[in-house]
Amino acid sequence: MKKEANLKDLIKFINEYVGNSGGAVFEVLAQSDKGILDVDIMKKTGLDEQEVRRVLYELQALGIASYRRDRSPEDGRFLYYWFIDSGRLNQILIQRKKAVVNKLKERLEYESKNTFFTCPRDGTRLTFDEALENDFKCPKCEGELVAEDNSGVKEFLRSMIAKLEEEIANEERKIAAPS
Ligand SMILES: [Zn+2]
Repeated sequence: MKKEANLKDLIKFINEYVGNSGGAVFEVLAQSDKGILDVDIMKKTGLDEQEVRRVLYELQALGIASYRRDRSPEDGRFLYYWFIDSGRLNQILIQRKKAVVNKLKERLEYESKNTFFTCPRDGTRLTFDEALENDFKCPKCEGELVAEDNSGVKEFLRSMIAKLEEEIANEERKIAAPS
């Protein structure tokens, strides 16, 4: 597993996708390198069998979890040892960052194409066209709109995009050439 900050971010992502038991199951999986039986996941998380199964199948569908099957030495039954598929997990994280970069780029384009007007009283923000339609008056309070300098917003968006693109490039390099 990678750094702590990444892990937190990841658990948040899993909770969003799979529900709140998702993060708990994932943490247990992440702590066991050799794989873990669903009964042991139940013990460690306090979740019931049905919920643990549901989460495991969802994580498997996302490509995050996999299992290895062994025969029980006692009665020959199949035992399923679940573990995290970290290669696939890294690819999912990269996909997710790319989606964020695309959203930031769209936002930057919008900010670059438009001139904005804001209301100093309540912060209402309109594009030039919208402000023109309203005679440069705030639609909420009728106050006078003022032209906004959004260079700070654009600068922030550019630096976020650059930072994420650098992270993506580093992570893709790592996947291409594993140490
Ligand atoms: Zn206003």
